[in-house]
Amino acid sequence: MRILVCGGAGYIGSHTCAVLAERGHELVIADSFVNSSPIVLQRLGEILGKTPLCHRVDLRDRHAVGSLFAGPRFDAVVHFAALKAVGESCARPLAYFDNNICGTIHLLQAMRDAGVGRLVFSSSATVYGDPDSVPVREDAPLRVTNPYGRSKLVTEQLIEDLCQHDPDFRAVNLRYFNPVGAHPSGRIGEDPGGEPSNLMPYISQVAVGRRKRLAVYGGDWPTIDGTGVRDYIHVMDLARAHADALEFMLREDRSATINLGTGRGISVLELVKAFERASGRRVPYRIVDRRVGDVAEVYADPGLALELLGWRAELGVDAMCEDTWRWQRMNPHGYAVPEVASHAEGVLASGITLGDATPVAEEAGCPVLQVSPVTQGPPHPVASSI
Ligand code: NAD
Ligand code: UDP
Repeated sequence: MRILVCGGAGYIGSHTCAVLAERGHELVIADSFVNSSPIVLQRLGEILGKTPLCHRVDLRDRHAVGSLFAGPRFDAVVHFAALKAVGESCARPLAYFDNNICGTIHLLQAMRDAGVGRLVFSSSATVYGDPDSVPVREDAPLRVTNPYGRSKLVTEQLIEDLCQHDPDFRAVNLRYFNPVGAHPSGRIGEDPGGEPSNLMPYISQVAVGRRKRLAVYGGDWPTIDGTGVRDYIHVMDLARAHADALEFMLREDRSATINLGTGRGISVLELVKAFERASGRRVPYRIVDRRVGDVAEVYADPGLALELLGWRAELGVDAMCEDTWRWQRMNPHGYAVPEVASHAEGVLASGITLGDATPVAEEAGCPVLQVSPVTQGPPHPVASSI
């Protein structure tokens, strides 16, 4: 299949590109790089032996999105492109609605105009808010607690309405629980800008010496050891689920909304201990007050994913920690390798097709990145704060 991957340079998108390409699909990435590095393309090229074609496009730019569909027809779109920081979404709700909801509307319009009617959408367990009971099934009440969650829920609902009223449109909404881990090569992984707000990258940055100690948000939750419990899922399992969801949608010609988790809850302290085992490093921590808006325990009922997709998580907490640690150890500062990163950014910013810039790129020790500019959108107002 020929697949457009929006947000394919990001954490989950890049791992999914690796899996899709390995299954023989032809990929085109579209990304604004608001929260990712073009170095990812180079790394994907190393893993796959071929760098995926990538267009620098902001989904808020309706015309640029339309021109993505000018070439040969896509069979399907996988849509990861969104801003995802809960705290920032509370500070800038409209920026989140604009990016995540309006961006998706532009994509859906362009898909309709091009006659492309198959979509896999990245949703989140955040749409369950503080669930009444665990494990959480897909039919649990939906209640969001912040503008990021609202943007995911509204987008899901728009997509569901479209599936209901457009006979040619099918979509699979995938509700991820807590993605962690990295590609086993250690070449791609999660690279949060600034101080991580999620647990696993915080733990790994403590282990590698970038941060002094972990603050554990609350030791008095009604859980196994008093710390928060979540359903951590290995990003490679998650990536595989996208390929399975695409194949399901095309094979069965139907839409669905599906949880992606392991079905197993892990506490903060259990994850800390597992990471210490995997890394051989100590992860000092201190228990502090609960984080505002946190909940005690959330984990998935992943039964529907097994029933519809034949998918279940295969990698456990030890693999999650080992792979995160390999990525962190090999890339202590993520993708920020100053000279290569600034060169690649410079080439992108210059707005030329990188195929034309081959000698310069190779001179800088950076394999050719097939990135071509589509119409440049307006400067992104939240880019610098992420
Ligand atoms: P990420 O930030 O690493 O990746 C998102 C990618 O989308 C980035 O490369 C970013 O530059 C791009 N992007 C954002 N806005 C864009 C726009 N307007 N136009 C073009 N590109 C744009 O995030 P991730 O962790 O890989 O998450 C991917 C998706 O999964 C997101 O939709 C997120 O909401 C969802 N999700 C993530 C998690 C998680 O914990 N990581 C959990 C549940 C759901
Ligand atoms: N957590 C923590 N310290 C941190 C980050 C997170 O103790 O620095 C806890 C948080 O309270 C929750 C769990 O780790 O119980 C997972 O948090 P994360 O933000 O990764 O995921 P989410 O809460 O969004 O599911």
